[in-house]
Amino acid sequence: MDARPFIDSLDFAGNGRQISGEIPVAGLPRLLDALEDSQGILQYTVRGGADKQGNPLLDVSITGSCRLRCQRCLSAMEHTVRLDTRLLLRDQANLDALDGDVAGGEEEAFDSILAEVHLDVLCLLEEEILLSLPFAPKHEFGACQAADGGNMQKEEKNPFAVLVKLKRN
Ligand SMILES: [Zn+2]
Repeated sequence: MDARPFIDSLDFAGNGRQISGEIPVAGLPRLLDALEDSQGILQYTVRGGADKQGNPLLDVSITGSCRLRCQRCLSAMEHTVRLDTRLLLRDQANLDALDGDVAGGEEEAFDSILAEVHLDVLCLLEEEILLSLPFAPKHEFGACQAADGGNMQKEEKNPFAVLVKLKRN
C-alpha cells in the first residue's frame, strides 16, 4: 500500500492538482465502526480547482462498495458508495464567520473545510463517506432475511385463521 497521502490543500487547489488511488475499507478505522465488516475497496479522486469567484476548492469523488448491517434482519448488506462532493477551502476566520451567517447565499450550498497545509486525504475521504451512509440501512423488500422478508405478508401468517372464521359462521 502507498504511504498515507497528505496534500497542501491551497497549493493543491491553486495548481489544479489531482490525486487518485484505491483504499481498502479495512484501512479506514473510523468508517469500520459503522460497517458490518471490513470487506470492500474504494476508489477515490481528489481534484483541486476554484469556483467562479476564484475560491479554492476540492472536488472529491469516491466509488466502491462496503458492507452495512441491515437494521431489520441484522445481517450484512452490500452498500454501493458513489459520492461526488465539492468542498470549499476556507481559513479558520472564514469558517468562524460562516458559522454565524447561515443565510450565506447560493454558494454556501457546498460544504466548507479548513484549508490545511497538511491535509490528511484519507481522513477527509473517511469523513465524507461517513456523512453519506444511510442512517438506518435496510435491505430491499424481498432481499431481506427478516422473518417476513421485509414485506408485509400478514395474511400468510396463520392459514387456520380462515378455518376458525368459517366454523364460527
Ligand atoms: Zn435485511
